[in-house]
Amino acid sequence: PTFDKMGLREELLRGIYSYGFEKPSAIQQRAILPVLKGRDVIAQAQSGTGKTATFSISVLQQIDTQVRETQALILSPTRELATQIQKVVLALGDYMNVQCHACIGGTNLGEDIRKLDYGQHVVSGTPGRVFDMIRRRNLRTRSIKMLVLDEADEMLNKGFKEQLYDIYRYLPPGAQVVLLSATLPHEILEMTSKFMTDPIRILV
Ligand code: AMP
Repeated sequence: PTFDKMGLREELLRGIYSYGFEKPSAIQQRAILPVLKGRDVIAQAQSGTGKTATFSISVLQQIDTQVRETQALILSPTRELATQIQKVVLALGDYMNVQCHACIGGTNLGEDIRKLDYGQHVVSGTPGRVFDMIRRRNLRTRSIKMLVLDEADEMLNKGFKEQLYDIYRYLPPGAQVVLLSATLPHEILEMTSKFMTDPIRILV
């Protein structure tokens, strides 16, 4: 399949082609359509496979930019990765008027609060700062319909397990969950059985 057979919105397709992508990578071919159908997806994938664009495209297709509330939350293990994801979302969403904020530790709290109060369609962050912002009610969760857990095994290795469960408890019931991980140890499977409903498993 090609990107233009995926039923993506015109302005997103334009963003994808402007970014220089011509055809979907294997993970994109296998994961994007199930996610757009609303399925929870577990993708066992390393970096370099095109995993970031897989969930970024899925997120961008599913948000309503007319509603200035956070609709998708993307969690990853490091500040660098969270910032890189924000850049990909903004680049692919270049023709969509999308607000995407990187909510990461080590940055000014006041700036985070100001950005979140303004309204961010997508938040890409690390679990510690994101949970802090949720607890302070600056990151409102009521409109979140999609949670992406990128490099989930790394997040657990970094000791974020408790915070992931804490964050999950604040999400509206039935929020869609997409999990990406290079490995699927027991603790990840335990988390998928708590957070996900009848997930599809994809190995790339
Ligand atoms: P990732 O797996 O997200 O770390 O992506 C690895 C690299 O592949 C990044 O430099 C992406 O820009 C690039 N990439 C992702 N999807 C595509 C695609 N469909 N066509 C060409 N390059 C891609």
